[in-house]
Amino acid sequence: MTPHPCPDLEVLFAELEEGEGPALDHAAECDACSAVLEEHRLMENDLYRLADPLPPPTLVASVMARVAAEPIPQRREVWSGVVILLTSLLGGLGYLLMNDQALGRLGTGVASFIVEGRLFAEGVLSGAHALWSTAGLAVAITLALLLLTSLLGLKRLAGNVPTPSEA
Ligand SMILES: [Zn+2]
Repeated sequence: MTPHPCPDLEVLFAELEEGEGPALDHAAECDACSAVLEEHRLMENDLYRLADPLPPPTLVASVMARVAAEPIPQRREVWSGVVILLTSLLGGLGYLLMNDQALGRLGTGVASFIVEGRLFAEGVLSGAHALWSTAGLAVAITLALLLLTSLLGLKRLAGNVPTPSEA
């Protein structure tokens, strides 16, 4: 046994609230007890921080600043959506034209025509989705025109009307 045994923790914390006592005097000179007190103090700080319901006073200002900064990146997203859409349309039409040639020359193309057509449709849909999520109705008319054009192109290819590649 050491000459000054560590006090019971209940006694120690009771004296901590009172501010004085033999257990506190012991803790000031005992590494183990002062470590316990330090841990208790840190935990109490954390609890106060968690219990504080008030947001930081700068919250509203920072949110408003973020909202005000929003339109520019959104407009950039619309343009990237247009680029995606046009790229997928051109890529899809290119696929179909190449496939049309392959059909005429090799006669193997029905299955791959279906596959390419599906890739084309998926490309158009993903481009349209990117646009729709950012710009919505404002782009819908342009989108409809583009889709109509590409659908007419598909219909022409499917209907075996002579295409520039065959002429
Ligand atoms: Zn101690």
